[in-house]
Amino acid sequence: MSNKEKILCVLYDDPIDGYPTSYARNSIPKLDQYPDGQSMPSPKNIDFTPGELLGSISGELGLRKFIENAGHELIVTSDKDSKDSVFDQHLSDASIVISQPFWPAYLTKDRIDKSPNLKLAITAGIGSDHVDLQSAIENNLTVCEVTYCNSISVAEHAVMQILALVRNYIPQYKWVVSGGWNISDSVSRSYDIEGMDVGVVAAGRIGTAVLKRMKPFDVNLHYTDRHRLPESIENDLNLTYHKDVDSLVQNCDVVSIHCPLHPETEHLFNDTLISKMRKGSYIVNTARGKICDKDAITRALENGQLAGYAGDVWFPQPAPNDHTWRTAPNHALTPHTSGTSLSAQARYAAGVREILECWFENRPIREEYLIVQSGSLAGTGAHSYSAGNTTEGSDQASKFKS
Ligand code: NAD
Repeated sequence: MSNKEKILCVLYDDPIDGYPTSYARNSIPKLDQYPDGQSMPSPKNIDFTPGELLGSISGELGLRKFIENAGHELIVTSDKDSKDSVFDQHLSDASIVISQPFWPAYLTKDRIDKSPNLKLAITAGIGSDHVDLQSAIENNLTVCEVTYCNSISVAEHAVMQILALVRNYIPQYKWVVSGGWNISDSVSRSYDIEGMDVGVVAAGRIGTAVLKRMKPFDVNLHYTDRHRLPESIENDLNLTYHKDVDSLVQNCDVVSIHCPLHPETEHLFNDTLISKMRKGSYIVNTARGKICDKDAITRALENGQLAGYAGDVWFPQPAPNDHTWRTAPNHALTPHTSGTSLSAQARYAAGVREILECWFENRPIREEYLIVQSGSLAGTGAHSYSAGNTTEGSDQASKFKS
């Protein structure tokens, strides 16, 4: 076993009424493998009950017993953005940082430079853009995530939000709870999705799962990706491939975004691209907030170029209270929740444990979990990212007031 490690784990706060003592359901389904055959996270053991809240500070990803029995130190905090935060205080001698994208501990260049012992950054989830990947490359950090752990969770959320926007669900629900029966107000922005053109930007694990789930709605399916899908999948789903995002958006009514955030995709959806979309298009973004230009989206909702915007990702996170998307018209946004259902938490908690077991025992981390290793992009990082940094502006998260 390696020397004593200090593991710094940043998680979101417990529920405002305290850590749950009971749950809506008694169990979650047990899955044998992911849709492409990839095996589920496979630690030697787990010390939590699948289906319980693991991603909040009292849940501790079910890691404390394992880490302390192995002779290491675990610090868990949600205090990550304030000046002199608990996160910043412990970074100087931490060797491992664990963070969830829902409540990201931004590992900027400045923070990496101040952390001489830091060797490993684990994303409890998918999407490691909260780490300055360029600095991670230059400082020989290993960055890894639990690939596939919540891809289907996100695909389900994206489909839910596509339908919520096109059918105009949220305003209709609001009439019910406010005691009204306003049919005209409810339906004057409500359409059927049948026959529409629906496209995804990136057809990786999530994008492909969204396409599969949308097929039974009898829509015309489109996609763009830097890697073209096998012909058999294109034929099965009757997909139209577009060589770039410009072509995709000009031919779609609904666009769902599923690429990682990296320098090629930062602010991809700006005024110029949005102006090329069909008037009254819908965007659902469950990928990363910064793939969209915040102000361009707000303007397009206000002037009707977009009929609706949904998703669950913001920049930075938590979103400042004055973030313009909170009050923009015709949105159906959630906080960043799609990948942290109780079902997903069980998978990524087990995946983090698997990664730590490998690290402590000097065994290789699965190739598909790797984003950066040995000074370059690796594994899924090499397939799905480009090198560089997209954390700029993350300090604005300190403007959030709960
Ligand atoms: P994946 O690696 O399976 O797929 C990513 C795809 O994006 C790949 O097919 C890649 O070729 C494509 N891509 C990358 N850059 C591109 C570009 N410039 N243009 C077109 N295509 C490009 O990953 P995944 O599991 O599908 O997850 C995708 C992303 O979704 C993650 O990186 C993360 O940012 C986000 N995500 C969000 C949540 C959430 O809770 N909202 C959870 C999981 C993942």
